Amino acid sequence: MNKAEAKSRHRQLCAELHRHNLLYYTHDRPEISDAEYDQLFRELQELEQAHPELVTPASPTLRVGAAPLVQFEPVRHALPMLSLENALNEAELRDFDARVKRFLGREQTVRYVCELKIDGVAVELVYRDRVLAVGSTRGDGATGEGITENLRTIPSIPLVLSGDAPTLLEVRGEVYIDLGDFQTFNQERQEEGLQVFANPRNAAAGSLRQLDSSVTARRPLKIFCYGIGQFSGALPTSHHELLQQLHQWGLRVNLDHTRTFEGIEPVVDYFRQLQDMRDRLPYEIDGLVVKVDELALQRELGEKTRSPRWAIACKFPPRQAVTIVEDIILQV
Ligand code: NAD
Repeated sequence: MNKAEAKSRHRQLCAELHRHNLLYYTHDRPEISDAEYDQLFRELQELEQAHPELVTPASPTLRVGAAPLVQFEPVRHALPMLSLENALNEAELRDFDARVKRFLGREQTVRYVCELKIDGVAVELVYRDRVLAVGSTRGDGATGEGITENLRTIPSIPLVLSGDAPTLLEVRGEVYIDLGDFQTFNQERQEEGLQVFANPRNAAAGSLRQLDSSVTARRPLKIFCYGIGQFSGALPTSHHELLQQLHQWGLRVNLDHTRTFEGIEPVVDYFRQLQDMRDRLPYEIDGLVVKVDELALQRELGEKTRSPRWAIACKFPPRQAVTIVEDIILQV
């Protein structure tokens, strides 16, 4: 591809991705599948790697989410809420491990924590003096939508933290809807002549962004917490201990499926197991999130513009592709 062709394709991809971001993040009405979106995004990343002069601050590869809706009070995140880099197969997961070691200049194995990648909506909960004070969406990573009242209606979000929780704690988590609850909810909507939601993620996003919190209160939302922003006091030395700590303070953490492994090969094995387990889970997941466990190493690795260097989301192959392969196998 020559320079002029690259420039034209770059412009086209940026416009397309901006449009899909708006449909997905702002209107909760995506027109293409996540796998199709990921393919376009990857194409843009590769194009920008080959032609770095095309990158502008407005490029979707440097951005998180989309601007918050004006109907909600803007909430500035004390620490940015970033996205995650994607690995689309096992080889890319191993590349991630190699990158981590190269950056840290170390040869010995790295310990990783693996968490399910819940397909929902990222939120931040700010607890001051252990009381839920502010709740917001991720928005564009720097500023989110203030949805405190709506988040207060979710039974699995504690209004007050228990035990020796610190006086300031910002918790990050994913709000989602169980598959069974989603089916019932959509069925009820259909019976009432209302528009049904395409998937549980869109239903969760739409339910959180209600101007009347009594509407949110009637939606079957749940949360899994997976990280923190700012906090006061001391922290444990590892991410898996931090998760246990959050759980002890009364926050809902998906400890049943969280695993800690030495080195990347057992992570790859867990990712394989998860693909079989996926359809037996009560909620939708779209992959595995792999994080460097030691918090000191996380700090050393730091962040890039859009994502931390110490974590990666290993995404499942699209369901359609799996179905086609199964069909072919059945036909044979
Ligand atoms: P992402 O979904 O790939 O990964 C980051 C997010 O994962 C975090 O913000 C958090 O919300 C979530 N997450 C879930 N479990 C987590 C855990 N245990 N630890 C940490 N984070 C966890 O990135 P994104 O920026 O939210 O969205 C990009 C993705 O959204 C794309 O890859 C695509 O799949 C989808 N998308 C689709 C369309 C479309 O039109 N279909 C448009 C835009 C984005």
